[in-house]
Amino acid sequence: MRVIPATEFALKREVDYGSAQQNEAVKSIIEEVRRDGDAALRRFAERFDGVRVDDLRVTKQEIEAAYEQVDESFLAAIRAAAANIRRFHEKQLRSSWMDLQADGSILGQVIRPLRRVGLYVPGGKAAYPSSVLMNAIPAQVAGVPEIVMVTPPATAGAEGINPHILVAAAEAGVSEIYRVGGAQAVAALAYGTESIPAADKIVGPGNIYVALAKRYVFGAVDIDSIAGPSEIVVLADETADAAYVAADLLSQAEHDEMASAILITPSPELAEAVAREVDRQLSELPRRDIAAQSIRDYGAILTVTSLEEGIDAVNRLAPEHLEIIVREPFQHLGKIENAGAIFLGPYSSEPVGDYFAGPNHVLPTNGTARFSSPLNVDDFMKKSSVIYYSKEALLRDGEQIIALARHEGLDAHARAIQIRLEKEGTNHG
Ligand code: NAD
Repeated sequence: MRVIPATEFALKREVDYGSAQQNEAVKSIIEEVRRDGDAALRRFAERFDGVRVDDLRVTKQEIEAAYEQVDESFLAAIRAAAANIRRFHEKQLRSSWMDLQADGSILGQVIRPLRRVGLYVPGGKAAYPSSVLMNAIPAQVAGVPEIVMVTPPATAGAEGINPHILVAAAEAGVSEIYRVGGAQAVAALAYGTESIPAADKIVGPGNIYVALAKRYVFGAVDIDSIAGPSEIVVLADETADAAYVAADLLSQAEHDEMASAILITPSPELAEAVAREVDRQLSELPRRDIAAQSIRDYGAILTVTSLEEGIDAVNRLAPEHLEIIVREPFQHLGKIENAGAIFLGPYSSEPVGDYFAGPNHVLPTNGTARFSSPLNVDDFMKKSSVIYYSKEALLRDGEQIIALARHEGLDAHARAIQIRLEKEGTNHG
């Protein structure tokens, strides 16, 4: 793993906007789904997934059968994780509020859940039960009544949808599951078909076709952010255990070749020890080819002269995951401005948060922690403003409202107030 001064390092950030051909393909898939509905979904399932789909919707019996196929320890772990995630997200729940003013006016916000949310779950090896929990539970806690999941039908020869995904979905409160994947699934969720009613928002990761389709339908529906490759930054001093740090860096690097794992440290000894440990542990990993490429192309050990300089580097990188493994981690927490999730101390290894502790693992990537937040309950709620103006308040503020409307050349606006002032003002004085 390369060791370089932090001042000489710049993270390669790449957002994949797809090729012209992929963009064209996605556009025409979406148009075909809008035109032909379910028939188009079935055609694309044959073309891209090699599967003939009769029933698009997964039945109750299939979900019950999935429970028979997963082992007890998986079920217990999923349930424990789901309970933690639910408890954490319940703390975020906000209520509608009304503020009564002295003049009798009432101002407030009505906060409501979205009615229907679509969750995309990728097919194949990238189908993670933990992601089903992390995307569905905040929606459930928000009170979304219809949480719909879409996932590609299994490829030819396979049995069906991964039972672990079906069980996670059932445990997380998903109310309907459809076997449809790719851009066509996103189109179905955005515009609706005969058997899949349109949703208000689409969340969840997927390949380039899914990501492009989400960008395309944004506006007709809401979407979550488009996730980039995973990232971890570990800020550590000489008190950190090099084996722990190396293991945590590799836990990100194994995600994919473009994942980035970075150690920032003022300790040259730790820098060397972690570099050695990464090499040693890499050789033992089943996914060592992926992890090795990620470490080579996107990984680095950055040396700094002080923890303060390290924190500046962290804030510049704005990592998705940040671990702080230093003597007094809480002393530095207040100075961290940009990070998706912050893990403090030697026992808060990133997988604790990925799977179990309760905070969401859908986090801002690609430096977007500068302006965005982990997936949360608010992402599944919307607010309406409430305005009740009393007569007293209107008589008091009317002239100023009229002045602003006239300034903008909107005379009908001014008159709507004027007409009331004339009538009410005369009546009362
Ligand atoms: P997927 O479900 O994302 O995509 C499969 C679908 O892609 C198919 O059903 C098909 O409809 C469509 N497709 C395939 N080839 C096509 C073509 N030539 N033209 C049009 N459509 C086509 O599953 P996947 O492909 O296995 O990819 C999973 C993706 O999800 C990976 O890219 C992975 O990186 C990503 N992922 C990301 C995260 C994250 O948190 N960022 C987590 C898990 C997975």
